[in-house]
Amino acid sequence: MTSITLMMIKPDAVENGYIGKIIEKVTSSGFKIRALKLTQLSKQDAERFYHVHKERSFYPELVNFMSRSPIVAAVLEKKNAVNDFRNLIGSTNPLEADEGTIRKLYATSIGENAVHGSDSDKNAEIEASFHFSGREQF
Ligand code: ATP
Ligand code: MG
Repeated sequence: MTSITLMMIKPDAVENGYIGKIIEKVTSSGFKIRALKLTQLSKQDAERFYHVHKERSFYPELVNFMSRSPIVAAVLEKKNAVNDFRNLIGSTNPLEADEGTIRKLYATSIGENAVHGSDSDKNAEIEASFHFSGREQF
């Protein structure tokens, strides 16, 4: 049984020119792309997407960062997609991320950490619908 996860290539990684390298790493690690686009979150979109963190001290910084320039959003499919993708991206803080992980390779800091991955199957479905209509998911 396969499942899905929602990836965002965050503004820092898009600005730094890493879209191609990250997508290559993701697909060569066995993930199939079910939906894909370049888009930009409004401040309100970013507030909504990261709503669970609204009480955290870093929330305003996170919202500003995520809405400052374009991102790439993608729905990825694989067996055990959520956990396997989180292993591929590495720890939230790139200084603690394992060698070879996307955050170790391409992230700048704990705040500007190159990629997002869903944290549960349920959130993956919610986040996929946040970014894509049914017609945009294959
Ligand atoms: P994501 O949800 O983006 O995949 P994550 O699940 O590894 O990341 P979360 O705890 O969900 O981490 O935090 C969401 C995002 O908030 C982080 O990816 C990072 O961009 C930002 N963030 C988390 N902790 C901090 C912090 N201490 N200082 C600044 N920004 C932070
Ligand atoms: Mg998270």
